[in-house]
Amino acid sequence: MKLSKILFVIAAMVGATVAFAAEVKKDAAAEPHKAKCCVKSEKDGKACGHECCVAAAKDGKNCEKCGGSGAVEAKK
Ligand SMILES: [Zn+2]
Ligand SMILES: [Zn+2]
Repeated sequence: MKLSKILFVIAAMVGATVAFAAEVKKDAAAEPHKAKCCVKSEKDGKACGHECCVAAAKDGKNCEKCGGSGAVEAKK
């Protein structure tokens, strides 16, 4: 009886950890991020020249076609 109780606690802890990890992963995926090509251009001090990225930027979004997602961060 005691052993099964311990096993139950361990199982609950593992389950909570997995659920927490999944939650963190979900949050990370929801986080807006720039497409790689746009990040690269930004590092060179330029705006990304891709037509799709320019069009997406006009809408205030990161280019999903190139792997970006979400809205562009407002510049401060
Ligand atoms: Zn781009
Ligand atoms: Zn693009």
